[in-house]
Amino acid sequence: MMQIFIPLNFLGFVYREMKGSLANIEKMFSLLRVPPAIEDREAALELVVTDGRVVFEDVHFAYRADREILKGVSFSVEPRQKVAIVGASGAGKSTLFKLLFRFYDPCDGRITIDGQDIRAVSQSSLRAAIGVVPQDAVLFNQSILENVRYGRVGASDEEVMAAIRHAQLEAFVHELPEGVHTVVGERGLKLSGGEKQRVAIARALLKHPPIMVFDEATSSLDSRSERGILGALRQVASEQTTLVIAHRLSTVVDADVILVLDRGRIVERGSHTQLLAAQGHYAALWYLQQEERHSAADTPQAGG
Ligand code: ATP
Repeated sequence: MMQIFIPLNFLGFVYREMKGSLANIEKMFSLLRVPPAIEDREAALELVVTDGRVVFEDVHFAYRADREILKGVSFSVEPRQKVAIVGASGAGKSTLFKLLFRFYDPCDGRITIDGQDIRAVSQSSLRAAIGVVPQDAVLFNQSILENVRYGRVGASDEEVMAAIRHAQLEAFVHELPEGVHTVVGERGLKLSGGEKQRVAIARALLKHPPIMVFDEATSSLDSRSERGILGALRQVASEQTTLVIAHRLSTVVDADVILVLDRGRIVERGSHTQLLAAQGHYAALWYLQQEERHSAADTPQAGG
């Protein structure tokens, strides 16, 4: 009985948090995925974002003492740069994001935003400065308009519409019977993975945080959805410091810097062109994905 009661009770709490005064997407993200282990320091300051420079300095991290996941990761993301992180499953990409959100603290090293150690600032000010586009955005049983408005509760219809346009959702919305008033979610119209991710991008654009974190969906997208997402992401990246966990190389080609993470270490860094010329990990990944793309595009031939 207890076992059933606790999760339901917890979900009820999550639901009230989301629908109430804390209706904000990062809160939801944190509540659903990570236990609230970190507490603010007593004299925690408010994070002041001036430029949006994010720096990881020799960051070490382990979930359990016997297994180090990040083994001295250092990089910086300059204001308005787009940095893509690539690497095999389990390399530690999502862990980097969890540390940036301060769901956990590094065991060693530090993370700063515009020179301020994120351990010294309040979590609310930290998370207010960062927009998240998660892999799988949560949609409420409400209209698309209201779903996007969760990015900034209180935004006007015009502002929500502008975010929908910039997230390249407008053409899709126009084709729906009730346009932006069409109800989506479990009991409404089901959106594809790519459409959901663009709703998340629209929310993030509306919030307009100085730093944006994008966790690209691993699921394959049709080429129209992929183009839509890339266009929307470019829109975001042109104005904000952007960090992307990338699974598709189409997303990384135009990144200012690509970091290749391998078993908790950055083993390569550079632009797409530089990394291809280096003929290392990234180049191997690139050729592998090119091959996969071609074989997926080929129709099967009898007898090979
Ligand atoms: P993917 O591309 O599959 O999402 P990733 O590069 O994002 O992988 P992480 O999710 O950062 O990798 O995981 C890195 C390692 O940390 C993995 O071996 C994973 O099993 C481990 N790990 C992740 N979360 C936890 C956790 N909460 N507790 C213990 N180990 C964890």
